[in-house]
Amino acid sequence: MPKGTRIAHVGIAVDALDRILPFYRDLLGLPEEPLDDADGARIAGLRAGDSLVELLEAETPESPIGKFVAKRGPGIHHICFAVDDLNGTMERCRRAGLKLIDSQPRLGAEGKRIAFLHPSSTGGVLVELTEH
Ligand code: ZN
Repeated sequence: MPKGTRIAHVGIAVDALDRILPFYRDLLGLPEEPLDDADGARIAGLRAGDSLVELLEAETPESPIGKFVAKRGPGIHHICFAVDDLNGTMERCRRAGLKLIDSQPRLGAEGKRIAFLHPSSTGGVLVELTEH
């Protein structure tokens, strides 16, 4: 039964996880959800209904989040959409001429297959695709 495309999570680059986590957890009341670290980032997951907020703190300056924060400062880093058919969606994007960062799906922080699309093809937004 197809679920349709929905927002899986919003990735937010932070400079100090321990300093910003209480805002989301204690003031907004989003429950913490354990996630694996990925791509050289320490990740805190927070449940917001059907979606997650992922706070991403660089473990090293050379990691993608480290470079992002050094260049632009902390802030929204990417948005992740869960789709019914990840391979099919990637193929549609490829055929439409979009630039894919990941040519093949790989495992992300939630233990699901993911792939990133390049922001130069998506109106300046780093878009991650995953499965339900
Ligand atoms: Zn993500």
